[in-house]
Amino acid sequence: MVGTVLVVAAHPDDEMLGCAGTLARHIAAGAQVNLLFLAEGGDSARLDKTDSQGRAKSIASITLAAQRAAALLNASPPQFLSLPDNRMDELPLLEVVKSLESAISSINPSIIYTHHAHDLNIDHRITHQAVLTACRPTPCSNVEAIYAFEVLSSTGWASPTPAEAFLPNRFVDISPYLEKKKELLGCYADEMRAFPHARSLEAIDALAHLRGAQAGFSAAEAFMIVRERVW
Ligand SMILES: [Zn+2]
Repeated sequence: MVGTVLVVAAHPDDEMLGCAGTLARHIAAGAQVNLLFLAEGGDSARLDKTDSQGRAKSIASITLAAQRAAALLNASPPQFLSLPDNRMDELPLLEVVKSLESAISSINPSIIYTHHAHDLNIDHRITHQAVLTACRPTPCSNVEAIYAFEVLSSTGWASPTPAEAFLPNRFVDISPYLEKKKELLGCYADEMRAFPHARSLEAIDALAHLRGAQAGFSAAEAFMIVRERVW
């Protein structure tokens, strides 16, 4: 699991919900982990558009949480494209792709983690689409693998359309890193909710054990292989 890893997430907290344990494994194995967030996140989408002070405060708070989480993980300092939260569909996809292409070319990752294509959240879906477009498998691309993670409170809340279901086919043993994952999510305490909300520590624990049991591990994170290239 050595190499350069990049997580392309729509919002700060998605990266830890989706693959904190796997990232901790990558880092323990000597990989460099980079985090790139496309939308603003936090409460910015829920606040009144005219409340610029409230929005600035919310964005500053979630940015700080993301920086703290990255430092606790020992990842590189996170990068933010700061696109409008929950309104990424208002932007031309090309604009999102161009910003992403430029970030990806400077990081030059071999492994990319991103959202499932059919999450409930619109920003998640656009992020997936933008990653696939920015990482077209051209002869000069260095991307070896793209994996889609699941995010509690978005992947499991989508429309029950069989063709769009999250069907994991890669299970990463995170048994030694489950506590670390919960510690990392502690950086996003404002985003977490009380059980039985899907975005609660109890639900994260339950999903990790379920994914683990599906693969013969005590705890796992599950992914869909979007593309793997072998040289
Ligand atoms: Zn999100």
